Amino acid sequence: MLHGKTALITGSTSGIGLGVARALAEAGANIILNGFGDKAAIERQRAALEELGVTARYAPADMTRPDEIAAMAEQAIAEFGAVDILVNNAGIQHVSPIEDFPPERWDMIIAINLSSVFHTTRSLLPAMRTRGWGRIINIASAHGLVASKFKSAYVTAKHGVLGLTKTVALETAGDNITANAICPGYVRTPLVENQIGDQAAAHGISREDVIEKVILAPQPVKKFTEVAQIGALAVFLCSPAAETITGAALPIDGGWTAQ
Ligand code: NAD
Repeated sequence: MLHGKTALITGSTSGIGLGVARALAEAGANIILNGFGDKAAIERQRAALEELGVTARYAPADMTRPDEIAAMAEQAIAEFGAVDILVNNAGIQHVSPIEDFPPERWDMIIAINLSSVFHTTRSLLPAMRTRGWGRIINIASAHGLVASKFKSAYVTAKHGVLGLTKTVALETAGDNITANAICPGYVRTPLVENQIGDQAAAHGISREDVIEKVILAPQPVKKFTEVAQIGALAVFLCSPAAETITGAALPIDGGWTAQ
């Protein structure tokens, strides 16, 4: 379905981003991976995607650096003509009461989780418009729709992502470009694994209790969402069936935000 299209997924060396990259490659899209990590491991991930019969590249741009984002976009356009599918996924978390929240962590979360979405979008939209087709998928969070204590920067950034998604949807309506946000509840990735460990230490309880009593407490469906399920939703948003879905915030959260 996506043969001949190129997808850039920020923060795709791990977790949800890697799952989305794999799902888009399985649907035939060329892939540009981005994110941090061990060089040899990233090369293995890239090579595994090429085994699916697509071209896969790796761009090391740091999402806190607008100059590196612009260079990544230029290089992608030079090689592929355009990025047809932009998945803004890179994100980090910091959990702390607001009085103790380190200002440098606030700045970093706003830069990676929110401002990078502006920088990638502004750099890649002109080539999408020229091609007359584009899909922008922002991986927000249930925390784009509701708040939790101690996650001030993350909740602020993710609410901001939803505002930006709606604005981009309005500015691209009629150009065969859609912009949507996926709002996952808990997905078992390294980002959440770290939280399980931190919360277990903070509350003095076991990892199993953290999962049941803390992590999955807000979700009526007591299950983690799988990265492949997020990948499948991203592929659907690129399909003709989703042509008129734009400006939407799509929860995939076990009913969390239905309450
Ligand atoms: P993860 O920690 O597994 O992956 C994060 C990715 O971002 C990695 O590839 C990392 O290298 C990359 N990254 C971090 N800082 C970067 C930077 N400065 N520049 C470029 N890349 C950078 O996390 P995940 O759980 O897969 O989360 C991915 C996205 O999904 C995030 O935006 C997160 O907020 C969102 N999300 C996750 C969950 C969940 O339960 N895991 C729920 C809702 C939303």
